[in-house]
This record gives sequence, structure tokens and C-alpha cells, in this order.
Amino acid sequence: MPDDVRDVIILGSGPAGLTAAIYTARAGLSPLVIAGDQPGGQLTITTEVENWPGMREGIMGPQLMEDMRYQAERFGTEFIDERATEVDLQGRPFQVYVGPDIHLCKTLIIATGASARLLGLDSEAKLMGHGVSACATCDGFFFRDRDVMVVGGGDTAMEEAIFLTRFAKHVTVVHRRDTLRASKFMQDRAMKNPKIGFIWDSVVDHILDVDQGKVTGVRLRNVKTGELSEHAIDGLFIAIGHRPNTGLFEQQLELDAKGYIVTHDGTRTSVPGVFACGDVQDPVYRQAVTAAGSGCMAAMDAERFLEAEEG
Ligand code: NDP
Repeated sequence: MPDDVRDVIILGSGPAGLTAAIYTARAGLSPLVIAGDQPGGQLTITTEVENWPGMREGIMGPQLMEDMRYQAERFGTEFIDERATEVDLQGRPFQVYVGPDIHLCKTLIIATGASARLLGLDSEAKLMGHGVSACATCDGFFFRDRDVMVVGGGDTAMEEAIFLTRFAKHVTVVHRRDTLRASKFMQDRAMKNPKIGFIWDSVVDHILDVDQGKVTGVRLRNVKTGELSEHAIDGLFIAIGHRPNTGLFEQQLELDAKGYIVTHDGTRTSVPGVFACGDVQDPVYRQAVTAAGSGCMAAMDAERFLEAEEG
């Protein structure tokens, strides 16, 4: 191996990547984190995180990520605040490109996460974290006795709508067709719930009110008739699916049908020495605390892999 080969490179800087960094740094492996386009990951677009254990009064998402990064740096983690543009996992050492720069490593921990699919409206971007959310588990609690809307017709949308009825006065599901994609079981549960109503064949055209800096309503467009209508709401939850950030690994690692990295025996991927943790390999739980837990597992798996190789 050439001299400039690192023991470990970590791709991604959400809770999974930073936990892997804290653990590998404390183990003396001098990790390099390539932090990506959105350093800190999905939690940087949420507001308060109340379910991170140990935070008595909760913590703001961006603050939690800043604290984790500080902790990783304190143990000697290096960061590059850019995106990896290409990886080559065919030979050893593994090669990671950041633009023209190449970085070599003996083990690679992939924690590139997933991105919630969004509607792509300008008003959505401006009101994200101010009444627009892509995570009911994270933000539902703030809508006690309020009227909220959920966009989507899949299992996530049904699950989020049902979850939100614990807090909200009323939940309206808006779906772009007149039949749901969700499983029969989830459909039945949502339809039986007296707090949930449905608006069919409709899409969100605009979210109000950017000038006030909070959600006061939405303008919907009926896709069959083109008719526009306004509805007063206090919160809008986008539940139209997630996309794992695995474009770099296609053809190199085993991915499942939806593009998530397949892991086995902890965090091992189909290439020995490459580990995956957090949302990039988890379509189910998608929580900060589960991502952090799997980041710890990836760090320990990488450490053991190096020990086994180097004796
Ligand atoms: P899905 O891809 O299943 O559903 C996405 C929904 O969003 C669809 O109804 C789709 O409409 C709608 N949609 C997509 N893009 C847009 C858009 N631009 N504007 C408006 N609507 C849009 O994603 P989910 O996250 O719901 O589920 C992902 C996977 O996880 C599934 O396999 C699901 O079964 C599973 N899951 C299971 C759960 C459970 O069993 N408890 C809970 C949560 C998820 P259309 O139908 O017209 O395509």
C-alpha cells in the first residue's frame, strides 16, 4: 500500500457519519470525513429535536450536529466540506475523488444518508422548518390542536397521518390520484380514523404564507379539473418518499430494488472493507438515534476489519 493511505474515510456527516468519526477517531484511526453538500445532514433542516436521549429540554437539530462535529474534531477527525464526486471500490486501497483530488483508504464507511423527496416549490423551501416538515415523528408534537395536512398516498403518508392524529385537531391527506398506493391495512386504519380526511386528485400548488414566515394555508390544484382552492392549515407534512444517496455506488455495491445499500453481519456491504450505516442502508427506522447507533457499529466493524487484516 502507498504511504498516503488512510485507515478510514467516512462519507457523510449526519449522525451516522459523525458517530463513526467519533468512534474511529477515539480508536486512533485518524478518520477523514468528506462531509457532503449539506454538512450535518437532514437534521440541519429540522428545528427542535426532542427525542435525542439525554437532552432534557430537547436540542435544535443544527446545534446537535454542530456539537457532534466538535466532538469528532476534538478527537482528531479531519473534515473536507465538499462532496465525493467518484469512488472506485474495485481494487485496494479504495479511491475517493473530491473533484480532481484523490484520497486513498483501507476501509470506507458510507453514511451518505437519504433525502426526503420534496415537491420542489419555492414556498416549500422557504417555509421548511417553519410549518413545512418532511418528518412527522420529528415535528408532529409541535402541532397540538392544530390543523395539518399530509401530502402523499403511500404507507409513509398513512403512517404519518395516523401518528399526527395524536396531536393535531384534524389531519387532511392530499393525494394526486383517487386511489392510495398504501397497503390495504394502512389504508383501512387511516380511513377509519375520524380525525383524518382526504382530498383526492389534488396537488399542492403553493404554500402560504412566505411573507409571514409561517404556514397559514395551501393552495391546491385539482389535477383533473384544474380548479384551484385555498385551505387554511397550520402545518404541512410532505410524505412522498425518500431517495437513498447511493448514485456513487451503483455497479460497485449491492443495492436493493429501491437503491438502498444492502448490509449484512452488522454494517458489512458486498465489498469487504466497505461499511454502510444510517439512512443509506435503512429504509425503515430513519431516526437520528438509530443512524448514530449504526455509525458506532460501522466504526467497530471497520476497526475489527483492520485488526484482522493487519494482525
Ligand atoms: P411510496 O413511494 O410508496 O409512496 C409515495 C407516495 O407519494 C405515492 O402515493 C406517490 O403518488 C406520492 N408522490 C410521489 N411524488 C409525488 C409528488 N411529486 N407530488 C405528490 N405526490 C407524490 O413511498 P413511501 O415513503 O410511502 O413508502 C416507501 C416504502 O416504505 C414502501 O415500500 C412502503 O410500503 C414502506 N413503508 C412501510 C410502512 C409500514 O408498513 N408501516 C411505513 C412506511 C413505509 P402515486 O401513488 O401517485 O405514485
